[in-house]
Amino acid sequence: MSRSAPSALPVFISSLSKHYGAFCAVDTVSVDIAAGEFLTLLGPSGSGKTTLLMMLAGFARPSSGSVRLGDQEVVHLPPHKRNIGMVFQNYALFPHMSVGENIAYPLKLRGVGRMECGERVGKVLDLVQLGGYQDRRITQLSGGQRQRIALARAIVFEPRILLMDEPLSALDKQLRETMQIEIRRLHDRLGMTTISVTHDQREALTMSDRVAVFSRGRLAQVAAPKDLYERPVSRFIADFIGESSFLPVQKVSGGLAYGGQLLHLADAADADLPEPMLMLRPERLDVVYAGQAARDENTNMFNGTVRSVVFQGESLLFEVGLDQGDVVQVRQSNRSQCTENLPSKGERVDLLLNRFDTRIVRGE
Ligand code: ATP
Repeated sequence: MSRSAPSALPVFISSLSKHYGAFCAVDTVSVDIAAGEFLTLLGPSGSGKTTLLMMLAGFARPSSGSVRLGDQEVVHLPPHKRNIGMVFQNYALFPHMSVGENIAYPLKLRGVGRMECGERVGKVLDLVQLGGYQDRRITQLSGGQRQRIALARAIVFEPRILLMDEPLSALDKQLRETMQIEIRRLHDRLGMTTISVTHDQREALTMSDRVAVFSRGRLAQVAAPKDLYERPVSRFIADFIGESSFLPVQKVSGGLAYGGQLLHLADAADADLPEPMLMLRPERLDVVYAGQAARDENTNMFNGTVRSVVFQGESLLFEVGLDQGDVVQVRQSNRSQCTENLPSKGERVDLLLNRFDTRIVRGE
């Protein structure tokens, strides 16, 4: 985790709920966010991410539960008394004001004098790499520049916490990826506690210390990006973060089996999960001609036939129909040494999975 700024505050969210009539948009969510942490709320559309963020900002009133910033309970405070910076998807800049006036706006609200305003606006413009842009009109800026100005306006008054709602979704892919790295760098420099909402899993993995995955108003898992990818607790999470195929496995004496064959597992405790499924990440499998690989206790082998091979530049994506009827995706990286000998459509193959790459997830 990055170094926190001296003024950064932890956020404690406890049993927070929001009902709209009989509908529960956020359902008893509890999570503690450390001072200086970058947490991303990730989830499908309508899962409650924005509603949670709005309750933190003070724009939506919780039905029940508590939000503490440091040791202060804030659920009854209006937004302007929470000292929170906010960046929205559509920038929400004032088009009739110059860049400088936009950024100075929150300072003026707080009674900061003209001289100091000018100084702080200059500094924050340098931070977002738009030094000298004070007098430009908002309409003269590109999408990426507008988003940087929105960010500058959100941080100019040194808020204790920064909230961002889909901050990059209006930008094209390339700019979005550049801005992800830039925002993360800025966060590391300033060290403020940051909570961001996205439905883009790559953005969440790239920017965050931890990711909180939402499903129907509830927190399905909160974990560091690597743990979320490597150890998803359920099929829903594994499906949402990265690509995956799933095989139904049976509990047998001695562990778990697929197609009557005992699996060699990384973690024997996995066999105790309810409704277990074997999660297969495409990049963790190897595809070889049938009968070419030897069986051993560190390798799981599945027999099947290649249904299709798609060339995707840096890799080839295989779809293999297993003899049991399940279909599995396999990704092989495009290295000339290896790819020349890869099987093609219709050929019989074995899929190899190292026992240390086996992951069992709850099948829901
Ligand atoms: P998206 O990624 O599409 O923005 P989200 O995860 O941010 O989705 P929310 O905007 O928090 O989802 O909405 C959660 C649920 O609450 C949705 O089903 C939405 O229709 C509902 N909802 C949100 N605001 C209201 C409201 N004012 N009245 C009634 N229902 C609402």
